[in-house]
Amino acid sequence: MNLIEPLIFEKSSPGRRCFVLPACDVLEKPVTNLLPQTMLRKQEAKLPEVSELDVVRHFTRISQMNFCVDTNFYPLGSCTMKYNPRINEDAARMEGFTKLHPYQPVEQCQGILKLLYNLEQMLIDISGMSAFTLQPAAGAHGELTGMLIIRAYMENKGETRHKIIVPDSAHGTNPASAALCGYDVESIPSNAEGLVDIKKLKASFTSDTAALMITNPNTLGLFEKDILEICKIVHDAGGLVYCDGANMNALVGIARPGDMGVDILHLNLHKTFSTPHGGGGPGAGPIGVTERLEPFLPVPRIEITDKSATEDTEGTEKNKINTYVLNFNYPDSIGRVRAFYGHVGMMIRAYTYLLSLGKEGVCKVGEHAVLNANYLRHKLKKHYDIPYGTTCMHEFVISARKQKEKGASALDIAKKLLDYGFHAPTIYFPLIVEEAMMIEPTETESREILDAFADAMIQIAKDIEQQPEVVHNTPQTTPIGRPDEVKAAREPKLRWKTNKSS
Ligand SMILES: *Cc1c(COP(=O)(O)O)cnc(C)c1O
Repeated sequence: MNLIEPLIFEKSSPGRRCFVLPACDVLEKPVTNLLPQTMLRKQEAKLPEVSELDVVRHFTRISQMNFCVDTNFYPLGSCTMKYNPRINEDAARMEGFTKLHPYQPVEQCQGILKLLYNLEQMLIDISGMSAFTLQPAAGAHGELTGMLIIRAYMENKGETRHKIIVPDSAHGTNPASAALCGYDVESIPSNAEGLVDIKKLKASFTSDTAALMITNPNTLGLFEKDILEICKIVHDAGGLVYCDGANMNALVGIARPGDMGVDILHLNLHKTFSTPHGGGGPGAGPIGVTERLEPFLPVPRIEITDKSATEDTEGTEKNKINTYVLNFNYPDSIGRVRAFYGHVGMMIRAYTYLLSLGKEGVCKVGEHAVLNANYLRHKLKKHYDIPYGTTCMHEFVISARKQKEKGASALDIAKKLLDYGFHAPTIYFPLIVEEAMMIEPTETESREILDAFADAMIQIAKDIEQQPEVVHNTPQTTPIGRPDEVKAAREPKLRWKTNKSS
């Protein structure tokens, strides 16, 4: 994949065109007669003059410089980079969906409303929560929505609580969402096992604390085995439990946060439910709540007019066909959190994914994700330090501190992996593990791929024993080597240079 691609402007050749139009057979009018003077360019636009094939090759080649799940293994911990089945894309591109307009009257949108309603029901089944909103546009947005619901609930009870407790292993978005909502964030350290420290939680959770934000399984890939007790401590103190469900891939079909006592849960459709992510594209972070928090959910809610007459699965009996409506009549609602109904395209994909797996298939997702992670963990444990746990859930965190002592950091190892054709694991997160590398294979990878990745990791560890510098100055095989990441973001240089370091 050693592509050298100039800017499209550098491919420009005067007079070259994509296609040539036939001579105009009506009277031509100069554009200066048609547009007001102020709207006209002072100078000709400097557009590249290229052929259609130039354009196709240019953009296809650029697209191939990007690392993606469709080409390579992508074990980016916490991100669940599973394969997005193509049938999801087919469904999302159906004209019946793509040609809808959000301002169309609900009578004309019954199909999509039914899909969204059914997706909410499926998420309720999978999570054990009482109700869902699909509006939030990402996991972090779900967190913010959850925090707003917590605040509305507390205010409704006449309580003002100022604090949210977040374990030190949490994803950075957790404290950020709580802070954005006006809460003071208190971090509590994890115990020696890498789990929530019950004693510290008890001591910290006062009458001024609104909620605990917990991730389960946590970001070390460990199940919070005391979750029932944790929820009880919080509830006894009059607080709520917010669960970051970004790691739901370990649990789907096996265990339900709703049954564990969680009050609010966000899911990432773009992680657990296979919709594509990365590159700044749209995500979806639905949140589920228990019954007592339902009145605070964002509006509109998608509802069936007459719940008693629920349609049979075929929808054949005319008198039983459901009518779906948008209900805005929730006076305690926090209001809208997204225009219209959120990122509907992602919801169509997640719905398609769930239907194509079926109940039986969904129940295998978590099992296989956990099996794959443990398989890799076992293969790597002799070669890298694994500070927490003896088994893991859907992901695990190794430490490159042994390698660091030899002169090769987690960053070096991550970069070297690119030369083997693998995306790097998440590095330097969670913060509580020195030289952390967080590996999440997902269930969609084969044993051959897992073996090849383990072989690469082991080879790198062996190389570092002998000659730690082999991982310096890597990657060598990618279009860009090691940019200064801050500078690259602030002062992007888009022109190709043969000097890889720039
Ligand atoms: C991905 C992730 C989030 C944030 O989700 P986004 O959709 O990226 O906003 C929050 N918590 C954890 C544990 C995550 O892995």
